[in-house]
Amino acid sequence: MAENAKDKILLVDDEPFNLGIYSEIFSDLGYEVFTASNSHETFEILKKNEPDLLLLDIILHNELGLDILEKIKTDNQHPYMYIVMITGAFTSSQQQAAALEQGADGYIVRPIDDRELIARVEAFMRHKRTLDSLRKSESRLRKIIARNPDAILVVDTDGKISFANPSAEDMFKLTIDELLSRVFGYPVIQGEHTEINIVRQDEEERVGEMRTIDIDWNDKETFLISIRDITHHKQIEEELKKALVKSEESDKLKSAFLANMSHEIRTPMNGVLGFTRFLKKPNLPVEKQQKYISIIEQSGIRMLNLINDIIDISKIESGNMEVNYSNINIHEMFASLFNFFEPQAKKKKNELLYVTSLPDNKAYVFSDNEKITAIFTNLIKNAVKYTTNGKIEFGYELKENEFEFYVKDTGIGIPQDRLDAIFERFVQADLKIVQPYEGAGLGLSIAKAYVEILKGEIRVESQENKGSSFYFTIPVKGKKVVDKVVAREKKIDSIEKLSEITVLIADDDETANIYLEEILEGKCKKVLHARNGKQAVDMVHGEKDINLILMDIKMPVMDGYTATRMIKQYNQDVIIIAQTAYAMSGDKEKAFKAGCNGYITKPINQNELLLIMNQLL
Ligand code: ADP
Repeated sequence: MAENAKDKILLVDDEPFNLGIYSEIFSDLGYEVFTASNSHETFEILKKNEPDLLLLDIILHNELGLDILEKIKTDNQHPYMYIVMITGAFTSSQQQAAALEQGADGYIVRPIDDRELIARVEAFMRHKRTLDSLRKSESRLRKIIARNPDAILVVDTDGKISFANPSAEDMFKLTIDELLSRVFGYPVIQGEHTEINIVRQDEEERVGEMRTIDIDWNDKETFLISIRDITHHKQIEEELKKALVKSEESDKLKSAFLANMSHEIRTPMNGVLGFTRFLKKPNLPVEKQQKYISIIEQSGIRMLNLINDIIDISKIESGNMEVNYSNINIHEMFASLFNFFEPQAKKKKNELLYVTSLPDNKAYVFSDNEKITAIFTNLIKNAVKYTTNGKIEFGYELKENEFEFYVKDTGIGIPQDRLDAIFERFVQADLKIVQPYEGAGLGLSIAKAYVEILKGEIRVESQENKGSSFYFTIPVKGKKVVDKVVAREKKIDSIEKLSEITVLIADDDETANIYLEEILEGKCKKVLHARNGKQAVDMVHGEKDINLILMDIKMPVMDGYTATRMIKQYNQDVIIIAQTAYAMSGDKEKAFKAGCNGYITKPINQNELLLIMNQLL
């Protein structure tokens, strides 16, 4: 019996009798049988069907079976069809040989009894089925190899490539034919996993992981090589490594920062508290009193500097940094920086000097005076801090459309691997927890942010124990970004004006009230107090002769902005000066918008306050 009912046999014979008999026999055996008596019928059937076996009579009426065989082989439409020639007893062995040479898979010689015929056909079919299943399994394997995302190659000991899958084409950007004509250039070590740089035709750099096993391929010592593209993994690995280093570093930095901040806050606090206590001692000689007061003042200034730095950082962070452009005379700025820093430099036995090359009337830059001064202040302050018995020089060079400013010192220098980090916030070059120099690690990050706001660049060159040179550029004509908010000012007449006025201090903080009263006492006609915005509003209503209000912004019940707005609705004459501890960007604008005439930040400097009051009266 046929193993598969669907197996198909095509019988080609010019004898209707033979066709009838054989057709019946094979149909009975379960085959699907087609019959044809000439070449035309044969090809008509072959057009529509795919027989497994063609039994082809070698001599047909006026035709030769061999011609049909030749055409089938030439057309190559049925490469897997088994073709068996039926020959007669008188067919010459030449013809039989010719049939096999032309591609027939075998022949059966007639006369033949039915049993032998069946046995032979079944034997051919078994053979054909075996081949079919081998072909199928090979095609499945090919598919697996072809669709494998890893490149798979077979390479012999001379590096000759005898097989490559489509992924190899993709990986090396070469066609299979190009690959097969090349020598495999990587060292092949059996059983090893090696990392290779994939040399691609398009020169893109990729990384591969290569695995090698030896296989028997055409009886030659050969290697089966698979290469996986691990570029992406490598990138992730690198990023993870970097992130790890960064997080370890930031851990260290965090501890260093906390230790440093705590040190930075505690030191002046110690000064303030310690010397305040000393001041309480009875019968303290006046010189000592003055000395302690000046220490307390210095400590306060140091704390204030730290707080100002932190406020600057948060202003920069919020992106609302105001830029006020004006024509700045660089030489004047240099002279005042020099005067400010010379005493500090001298104290550390440093020579301080500045160098100018332009005539005074040409040394102008259109930029933000306050910010450039702050950048220089930070850089010179550092130069003085990190230099002893040395030289500090600052100056400029006029380049195309920009000034390159510099501050150079001959101090302790900065290790090469910290040169980038020092511009980051809260970072000091020295990672040790206990560091001998005071500072919160904010100065350079503020300087860098300012330089960038002013459309310039900052860089540093430094050598340990030799010194550091900081350079920053500023465009000669900076672009105007935001207009300065100008206070409504009146001309200063005389400080005596103060003595004629009544001042209302609107502030909920007891200390602030005492402090302001202390400043104003004896200078003004009368000083009144309100503890919140609402009280201030009511008092202005009741007491018509209040001339000036020092308005705190953050107060309970009603804040200073609201109180100002309400007061200004019915009293345009009263002068209101906003006093705030925020010092955040936007506060000033808000205060002016609410109707304030002036603005001052806490801690309030006595002179500054009196000056503003005078200007506004
Ligand atoms: P700090 O408040 O610590 O001075 P900065 O941001 O101004 O903070 O500086 C960061 C770090 O850069 C400093 O702690 C110091 O280690 C290093 N540094 C800055 N300027 C100099 C300099 N002129 N010489 C040596 N080191 C410097």
